[in-house]
Amino acid sequence: MKNFEIITIEELLKRLEKYTYKQLHIHHTFKPDHSNFNGKNHIALQEGMYRYHTETKKWQDIGQHVTLAPDGKFITGRDFSTSPASIAGWNKGAFAVEMIGNFDVGKDQLKGEQKRSILMLSKYFADRFGYDCIKFHREGPGVRKTCPGTSIKKDTFIKEVMSMGKIFKDVEDGRWSVPYIEAAKDLGIMNGNTDGTFKPTEPLTREQAAIIAVNLYEKITGKKVVE
Ligand SMILES: [Zn+2]
Repeated sequence: MKNFEIITIEELLKRLEKYTYKQLHIHHTFKPDHSNFNGKNHIALQEGMYRYHTETKKWQDIGQHVTLAPDGKFITGRDFSTSPASIAGWNKGAFAVEMIGNFDVGKDQLKGEQKRSILMLSKYFADRFGYDCIKFHREGPGVRKTCPGTSIKKDTFIKEVMSMGKIFKDVEDGRWSVPYIEAAKDLGIMNGNTDGTFKPTEPLTREQAAIIAVNLYEKITGKKVVE
């Protein structure tokens, strides 16, 4: 059995930095579903899928790179540098995620931390490789499955990814200041902290104010004043 690890979305994004992908493939597991998750059996569920993929299906490894649990945590699977067994014809250069759940209408709901994590992962891929790289399994050539489930509409999902703007992990979606923080970041005027936080309610120091003033000047004039 492989050494599967449980990691957060932040840790996953950090690990993905050194890889380049053509597509992000999104699946639901169908089985196991939310009723099989008890809050701590991440590894056991992943091992079950590993056995199914390697013993029943006779694949060389588990199909997906990561599995996303209902609590928003990921379980590592296939090596990130190898192609997944994910969507026939589209596997080369793809990264595959299986979300634990059956998201067909009337079954499980994609919500809470699990939804936040898949949106963040999708946003990360979209920012690096474009929105077109996000693929649902059912979009694949000749696929008849509903995967990742009929309750997840692609256009709604993409809109949610776009409106996330979750550039800083401590800036919640509902905050009144989100559009300003996003714009300040997009303009290159305020870039947050190296740990990915923005600390939206912390006071500004004089040195931070100096950086902002210079960034603003450089942006407006197009002249670089500090190397
Ligand atoms: Zn699928």
